[in-house]
Parts: sequence; C-alpha cells; structure tokens
Amino acid sequence: MNMLQQIATIAAASPEKIAYRSEGEVISYGDLWQQSNEVAAAIRASNLKKNSPIAIYGHMSPQQIVAFLGATKAGHPYIPLDISIPNERVLHILEASKSSLLLSTEHLDLQVATPHHTVEEMRQKGEHAEDDTATWIEEDQVFYIIYTSGSTGKPKGVQISHANLSHFVDWLGEECSLPNGVFLNQAPYSFDLSVMDLYPALALGNELHALTKKQIEHAASLFEELQQSKIAVWTTTPSFAKICLMNPEWNEQMMPNLQTFLFCGEVLPNSVAKELLIRFPQAKVFNLYGPTETTVAVTAVEVTTELLTKYEQLPIAKASSSKLKVLNDTLQSVEDGQKGELVIFGDTVSSEGYLYATEQSEEVFKDFDGERIYKAGDLGYLKDGYIFYAGRSDFQVKLHGYRMEIEEIEKKIEALKEVASCAVLPIKKDEEVVSLTAMIVLHDELVDKPFKMTKHLKALLLQSIPSYMVPKKFTYLAAMPLNINGKIDRKRLAVETDL
Ligand code: AMP
Repeated sequence: MNMLQQIATIAAASPEKIAYRSEGEVISYGDLWQQSNEVAAAIRASNLKKNSPIAIYGHMSPQQIVAFLGATKAGHPYIPLDISIPNERVLHILEASKSSLLLSTEHLDLQVATPHHTVEEMRQKGEHAEDDTATWIEEDQVFYIIYTSGSTGKPKGVQISHANLSHFVDWLGEECSLPNGVFLNQAPYSFDLSVMDLYPALALGNELHALTKKQIEHAASLFEELQQSKIAVWTTTPSFAKICLMNPEWNEQMMPNLQTFLFCGEVLPNSVAKELLIRFPQAKVFNLYGPTETTVAVTAVEVTTELLTKYEQLPIAKASSSKLKVLNDTLQSVEDGQKGELVIFGDTVSSEGYLYATEQSEEVFKDFDGERIYKAGDLGYLKDGYIFYAGRSDFQVKLHGYRMEIEEIEKKIEALKEVASCAVLPIKKDEEVVSLTAMIVLHDELVDKPFKMTKHLKALLLQSIPSYMVPKKFTYLAAMPLNINGKIDRKRLAVETDL
C-alpha cells in the first residue's frame, strides 16, 4: 500500500481518531480526509498544469496537513514553506519551482504572480467533495519537494517520490519497531526531519502532536505541553533534546509514555544519549543517519549502554547495511579504519534529484552497476562492524541542527552593496559547529562604530536568508588573505584572527 492508500484505510476504519493536534486545535482522521478531498477538488477545478508543484505556506497548523494531502490527491507535489523563511526566499522558491499555486494557512505579506489562496478558501470551493482516486499522485511521481541550502548561492529543491516516501515509512517502522501512541512533531515542515514523524504517525493511524515556535520559545509552556501530551515517539535533532535536558525535571515522571527517541540530522553526542537513558530508562534511543536527498534517513543504530561505554563517538550504521557504504574516489570499498565517502543506495534515493537543476543532480546522483546512488559529501570509516561519521568533504555545516552551505551565506553577504568580499568561518567546540563568523572586507572604510555596520548588514541579510543562517559575529578586515592560487586562505584567516 502506498502512503495515500494507508491513510485512506485508517480514515475509513477510524474516522473519529485524532490525527493531529497543535496548540489546542485537533483534527480527526475522518475530517483530515474529507477536508483534503475538498482542497483536492478545488485544485482540480483550477486546471493547473499537470503535476506542477503547489507551495504551501504556514506553521504547524492542521490545515497545512489538509493542504499537503489535498495537493497530492489532486496529482501535484507540494513544497512546504515555513513562516521562518523570509519573503525574498519564498519568492525565489515560487519562481524557481514554477509553482502553479500558493496555498497558505498563515498571513503572508507578499505580492506574488503565482495564484494565492488560503486553505480555508479552497475548502469552501470544494465543499462536500468526495474521494477521487483517479488524480492521486502515482507511485513514481514526486510527492513533495523540500528546499535546502545550495552552494550556488540559491536553495535547491529535493524531489521525493511517492514510492521513496512509502519505502522510507515502511523501513522506519520495522527498523525502529515503532510503537503505537502519540508522535511528537517539533521540526517545521520545510525541514525533512518533520517527514520522520508526520508520515509514520499517519500511516500507523497515530496522533501527531505538533509544537509551535511560540510554544518552544517559552520553556514553561513547552514542558507543560510535553507533560500533558502522552508522547510515545520523540523525533527531534539532538540539539533540541540538549535544550530539554537543561530542565532536570524532564524525565520519565514527566513523560511516562515515552518509549522511543529518534535522532537524526547531526552528530548525536554520547553525553546526550547517556543522559537520556538515565532519565528515561524504559525508552530506546536511536541514532539515525541520512540526508534530505535520500528521504530523511537510511540507517539507524540503537544506542545501548554497551555502545556508550565502548565508543565516545556513536556509530551511525551497521557495516552490513545495504543502504550505506564507505567508498573511495573510484567507488571501491575501503579498508577498516580508512576514511572514505558515504554513498547511499536503495529505494529511498531521490528518483528525480533536484528540481530544474540537472547539472547539480548529476554531480551527486550517480549510476552504479545500474543502481541509482547518492554521494552524500559526508565522510566516514568502518570499525568493529559499524560505520562512523567523520565530517564533510565540502563547506556544508550543521548549526543547531540546521543544514546550511557556507558558500550560500558568503554569496548572500557579497551581494550586499557595502561588501567587497567575505568569508564565513564555522566556529567549532569539540568538533561541533557552535556559531559562524563572517570575515568582511568593505568597499569603503568604516567611518562609524563596527557594531552599527553589523546591525545594518544583519538586517539586510535577514531579508534573504533565515535567521539561523546569519553569522553571529562580523569582523572587518582591510584585505582578505589569499593563498598562492589566489583563493581566500581560510586557514590563515582562522589563525590570524585567533578563531
Ligand atoms: P539534512 O538533509 O538536513 O537531513 O542533513 C543531512 C546531513 O546531516 C548529512 O549529510 C550529514 O552531514 C548530517 N547528519 C545526518 N544524520 C547524522 C548523524 N546521525 N550523525 C552525524 N551527522 C548526521
């Protein structure tokens, strides 16, 4: 059964069951199904270009899920856009993706050429519509497109097919023996981590409990919400769990139903996993690995006390995994202990690659003995029957769980009229990136205090990139140190500026 069929079966069998809860708002499986039929009917009536993407702007509301299902039932992939994405970037994504429609659940103060409606308006247009499976997204068609930071200076759209998604959900359910119960959703839908809780929850007929940005920002309300939530499956980045661990009362007594922790997206520190197993002795903790390009995650290792004692750095996969290999430049296996590139195989590798970016796709999606593979740009090594992560081979970083290309940030800063050149340096503590510093050469000499220029430049940057991508510190230089090839000498820059 594919994803839409699975949800249809649950909606028919248990229409009263709660599918989704967010800030006190709930929607049942029956209503989710009916309302998405209404959106789908209104989309069909709009006569959009076949299979053209539909952008869906909002933040954690049940109506967003209604719109996701409505779009795919009408035969269109959707592009989730969270409110944290600045308008300029929304505009770029709408244009670059050639979206035929923009649906929103939140206010969007932006003039766009793309036809724009609220989800509510669409539901009214399609009121009382019935199921029409004839237009549903086929298995080999794109189900969703998630935009992620791009080294060219522009975000790139990763296309995931209906089959990719169904394979991922089936694999995750089995690999992590997902229990029934309430699933937590913390990551906004424009991040692929959200797919790890949204579709497994819906496919199993469970309730998804979403946390909004506002709830997360207020510690007291966050823990009150968690206490009342009956959450059984926890999916977040390790960074978010680290924040929760700062509250000593976050433990099994507060969340007695919690059975499974799923972590993905960045290094899971030994100390975080260890503390979780102390605070939640009945729960299982999984370290999952995978990029957006291969549908969220492709490997999982259960973190046991034995692993915690043996390895300071936790493994990301078993060496026997059929989906992840450590290979050299000529795609041959490497010896134990030798560093190589992490290459991903299997039925969740994006079948379509990046949207309207053939060249970029061809660089990383390759054919290997007739099989489509993805070269993740991650490094790793084999040891004791496990695969360990060993950083990146490029300038991509993870900061507080967010994926970003340093080159994209640099290009955005260099596009500002005040800036002559720029290099962004990741600041690390114990191998973890903890902040970014922008080294800047201005066209004109600074006449005012540097902090005033920094404030000005940061405000300009926030118009085009999300706040988590804006470097914390700005340092102004008279000239950029160059190496003999004429490129920015990043090593010297770090040493000379004492970073
Ligand atoms: P994203 O596409 O946002 O999921 O980011 C994918 C990248 O996050 C991977 O290519 C890795 O660099 C990193 N990543 C994902 N999972 C892990 C993990 N368990 N340990 C270390 N890095 C990870």
